Amino acid sequence: MEQAGAPQGNSGSILARLRRRLQPASAAADSVGSQVLALLVDNLEGMVFRCILQGGRKLVFISPGCLHLTGFEGKELTQGDGARYPSLIHPEDREMVQGTLEAAAEFGRRYQIEYRIVCRDGQVKWVLERGLAEQRSGGPPVIEGLVEDITERVQAQIELAEAELRYRSIFEHSEIGMYQTTEDGQYLAANQALSTLLGYSNPAELLAGLAARAGQFYVDPARRSDYRQQIRELGRVTGFESEVVREDGARIWVSEDAHAVYDTQGNFRCYEGTVVDVTERHRYEEQLEFQATHDVLTGLPNRNLLQDRLHQAIGLASRAGAKVALAFVDLDNFKVINDTLGHATGDLLLVAVAGRLVACLRETDTVARYGGDEFVLILMGQPGLSDIARTLERIQETVADPVVIGEHRLHVRASIGISVYPDDGEDLNLLLRHADAAMYHAKAEGKGRFAFYTGAFNRAVSERFAIETALRGALAGGEMRMHYQPRVNVAGRACGCEALLRWTHSSLGGLRPDRFIPLAEEMGLIHEITEFVLTTVCRDAAEWGGDAGLLPVAVNVSSRLFADGRLPQLVRNALRQSGLAANRLEIEVTESLLVGNIEHTAKQLRDLRGLGVRIALDDFGTGYSALSYLRKFPFDVLKVDRSFVTECDQCEDARALVRAIVSMGTALGLTVVAEGIERSSQLAELAAVGCAEFQGYLFAVPMPAQDIALWLRRNLAGARLDGPGTLPMPEGAKIRLQRVAEGGSE
Ligand code: C2E
Ligand code: MG
Ligand code: MG
Repeated sequence: MEQAGAPQGNSGSILARLRRRLQPASAAADSVGSQVLALLVDNLEGMVFRCILQGGRKLVFISPGCLHLTGFEGKELTQGDGARYPSLIHPEDREMVQGTLEAAAEFGRRYQIEYRIVCRDGQVKWVLERGLAEQRSGGPPVIEGLVEDITERVQAQIELAEAELRYRSIFEHSEIGMYQTTEDGQYLAANQALSTLLGYSNPAELLAGLAARAGQFYVDPARRSDYRQQIRELGRVTGFESEVVREDGARIWVSEDAHAVYDTQGNFRCYEGTVVDVTERHRYEEQLEFQATHDVLTGLPNRNLLQDRLHQAIGLASRAGAKVALAFVDLDNFKVINDTLGHATGDLLLVAVAGRLVACLRETDTVARYGGDEFVLILMGQPGLSDIARTLERIQETVADPVVIGEHRLHVRASIGISVYPDDGEDLNLLLRHADAAMYHAKAEGKGRFAFYTGAFNRAVSERFAIETALRGALAGGEMRMHYQPRVNVAGRACGCEALLRWTHSSLGGLRPDRFIPLAEEMGLIHEITEFVLTTVCRDAAEWGGDAGLLPVAVNVSSRLFADGRLPQLVRNALRQSGLAANRLEIEVTESLLVGNIEHTAKQLRDLRGLGVRIALDDFGTGYSALSYLRKFPFDVLKVDRSFVTECDQCEDARALVRAIVSMGTALGLTVVAEGIERSSQLAELAAVGCAEFQGYLFAVPMPAQDIALWLRRNLAGARLDGPGTLPMPEGAKIRLQRVAEGGSE
């Protein structure tokens, strides 16, 4: 309720003014005027009154509208001392009403006042009283005025105020950040939730803070203009997500919904919007996105992202007329390490290699993990093949540095194949296929190398594919057989033989184990093959009668078989089925076994030993075992690799090496066998340094089961003990040896 403003001039009472306006031109007109006036006053909605202010308000006149307004007849309020009306005023408002009247009376001015009355029926009404107080000379002040019912309007105002209060409360107490801005982005209002979200203690600080760093709210400044453009064009933004900076400098992700607000005339008033913190969801989405495009173990891009990156790289290069090199990297001895040292170590090794690859390249290049131990590199801006080659040499050197994991010092090398866009292909798949083919070529050339793609590699890849396919049916198709190569002592007398696997395929021809055993290992067929080899060899050897029936037979066993610990059982079964005495079986393992889980391997070797089987360390000197392992494992035989034998009769260094190996093996109590002896001069050298047994084409090439039985029988029956080089050899074997010397297969 408010008091009236300054009086607008005092030109007489309301009734007097009415009378003046209806000024009569004559007496007749005067009477008509009075009638009109009376009618007007009578019919006026609300109550016209005159009162005297004398120790309170005393009504002397009241219009009939009183009844409708208060429920009382006018005369009920004017009768007696006419002082009843104030008692209708709501007790809480009485004092204020009285004060207003007195002030108006004192200065003889207009007033306007809103207050409540209690009607006859008890209903409370809001009224607006407007009046004019006149100080008549001598007499008490007279007030004339009009009291109107404004209950509906006040009620509406109250409801509006309450509604505003409610909305304000929603705004102020909402959990969601809310704001209003001007068209050019200046903040008009913000709530507590938004202040908290952005790291301010209250809305006032937020408004001041945002004004101070205008434009720096979004991490990406372009978001500000995006927002403005969208809201200008569409009148709203929905789910507008951006990264923003909090007061403390921290970055969070928010989602904004905002719209333009117009007044009833359609004029723009402000933008208002809500802001929600979506950092958690964003991080989660980013994580999902990362997981979908990256390798979990190494954190490198995966195949999916590689596709994108290569696509981009090709796009860039084709616009710039430049080249892109795609390098397919495969770790050479990873599988052995993984199988033998376990996956945990394998994983650590991959992570280490991944880190080294990344460190070797530039930011613009990509290193992706393609599969198990395969990585793909995208090399940008390498102008020529020699630049690419230099980069790859650097990579190979870095990768080849030993990786220390726990107690192991691991050596891995990388074989790398390279294809170049656009020379070797224009699309991703072709480039990948060609780089892969080049990688296989590099591997075949001797591992730890790199090779650029040439069309010829396609043949190598298809051949490998053909071997893989054929290998699956080889055992079932009876295409695998065993050959045996005898071992002799210094007197030329047979003292054992080695079983060597042979595979003859109808279209691929004869394939040497070196070509298919590694594939069989990769394909998971090695277990099946070893079972076949062990059973066949034990059965064959059990059939050799006479003295030959006492000789040991050696079987080559892949290091892979030690991973699952099933080898002792396989051996036990083969011995049982064939009835072969365990001491006639020798298991040949290679040094690659010795980098593995040493305890696990040693236990299996001890188990085999426990069966009575002998253990030979094959190809000694080619692997990476520490000499100390020789003592840890229960070996009976040490086989000196052919590479040492080849030159031992020609070069002093080779001779010294062989001498060292033989004397070390002998000192450890092992039977030392030299393999790959082709010349009697080699035999003489080795015999001179104390080598006990010999194997090689000089004595016999590997031969089928029936031939070996014959060879052994003859040898044992007729071997002369008067020196090497005069050993009996089957005629066929001589011819085969000649062919070998001429460069053919045995
Ligand atoms: P290895 O165990 O070192 O076998 C000796 C290899 O040298 C054999 O090759 C044999 O034919 C060859 N050789 C023997 N004497 C001479 C010689 O005087 N001069 C030359 N140049 N070579 C000679 P092969 O049969 O091709 O076997 C290659 C390798 O394949 C073997 O090397 C062995 O590690 C593996 N292997 C053979 N059979 C099996 C098998 O049944 N299972 C497994 N897991 N591996 C096998
Ligand atoms: Mg062998
Ligand atoms: Mg060997």
